[in-house]
Amino acid sequence: MSVDMLEATGEKFDAMYTEAIRLQSFKNWPFDCKSLCSAAKMAEAGFFHCPTEHEPDLVQCYVCFKELDGWEATDEPWAEHYSHSKICAFAQIRKPQKDLTIGEIFKIESERKKNKAKRVIAQQLKQFRKACGEFDDYVEDLIKSVEVCKKKK
Ligand SMILES: [Zn+2]
Repeated sequence: MSVDMLEATGEKFDAMYTEAIRLQSFKNWPFDCKSLCSAAKMAEAGFFHCPTEHEPDLVQCYVCFKELDGWEATDEPWAEHYSHSKICAFAQIRKPQKDLTIGEIFKIESERKKNKAKRVIAQQLKQFRKACGEFDDYVEDLIKSVEVCKKKK
């Protein structure tokens, strides 16, 4: 499955469900283990590393999908997560995965599924609107062609 397809279906986020797998995404993380925003602490706070050419420290939450970059060594991941995404169920509970209760796991997973559905629907709506725009352009071109043909007669 292509990266775009993984993004479109939200499966990219399913793959980042466990803290251990999120930690593996921080291969080229620009901060060391002495930093407050070390790779281990970032993964614990729900983030996975998804760097781009211009945003080498870009991370994303696997629950609320909030993207954050511009990290500094003194930034505390849980605090940054909550301050930029107060609606995130994971940031609200603020516990490492190993300390979560079954009830908290269900709450987080329920919110994550809801966020994922909203994201997938928003992306499909965007694609649908783009296709509608292309169809409108096509119809306008056809109408112009017909008008040119009528004038020639
Ligand atoms: Zn979040």
